[in-house]
Amino acid sequence: MNWSLDSLGIIHSCYQEKFAVPRQPGLAPSARATLELLPPYNQPECVEGLEDFSHLWLTFLFHQNLEQGWKPRVRPPRLGGNQKIGVFASRSTFRPNGLGLSVVKLESIELQQGVKLHLSGVDLVDGTPIVDIKPYLPWADSLPDATASWAPEPPPLLRVVFDARVEQQLAHHTEGVWLRQLITEVLAQDPRPAYQKNDPQRIYGVMLAGANVKFAFHQQNEQEVIVVLELG
Ligand code: SAH
Repeated sequence: MNWSLDSLGIIHSCYQEKFAVPRQPGLAPSARATLELLPPYNQPECVEGLEDFSHLWLTFLFHQNLEQGWKPRVRPPRLGGNQKIGVFASRSTFRPNGLGLSVVKLESIELQQGVKLHLSGVDLVDGTPIVDIKPYLPWADSLPDATASWAPEPPPLLRVVFDARVEQQLAHHTEGVWLRQLITEVLAQDPRPAYQKNDPQRIYGVMLAGANVKFAFHQQNEQEVIVVLELG
């Protein structure tokens, strides 16, 4: 059977591009987004009572990947990018119906001029269409005994260091403290695709909250660290 879904709202996110967006929500708690509801869902009635919940489930469309279709087997980054598993055994963004599911923190609700939900901890790129919103119910949705064999815990973090000039720039930035924290949380996830991990010379760039962040991977005391080289 074929169904059609209506976008309830659109995400305005600090993640201006897909690259470097964490692979699950909550990994970068400083990430901010606003979910702007669209007519006819942008009436205060639709969100009455929602302010009593700290977290939400968002169902959304991986809209940037829809044209690329899907395959029955995928290579999850957590398995090093070589081993394949079934698409339904993964959180791959290339899925038959292109639907994603994320639990995010509800910071506040704004009701002047429509409805805006201010969120944090998102793993959603700017412009993501939202197709459903539900409150997170800790007694039903949090399962501390659940197991996840090859992804038992969050991925290890890399150390992130800032070039002195970047520190200077951040010190003069109106939201420098937040931006420094956001960059640290995001880059510590190691955004490189598995196939790029043996190209140590490469300089990467990503647009994050209006800043063009340039970074590279260096060896320090036999450990890989990320150096933030430039903020544009
Ligand atoms: N928590 C969700 C998403 C996990 S995948 C789920 O499990 O269903 C997270 C990745 O989705 C991010 O790293 C980002 O690169 C990608 N992503 C986020 N928004 C997207 C969008 N609108 N279209 C395509 N990919 C997106």
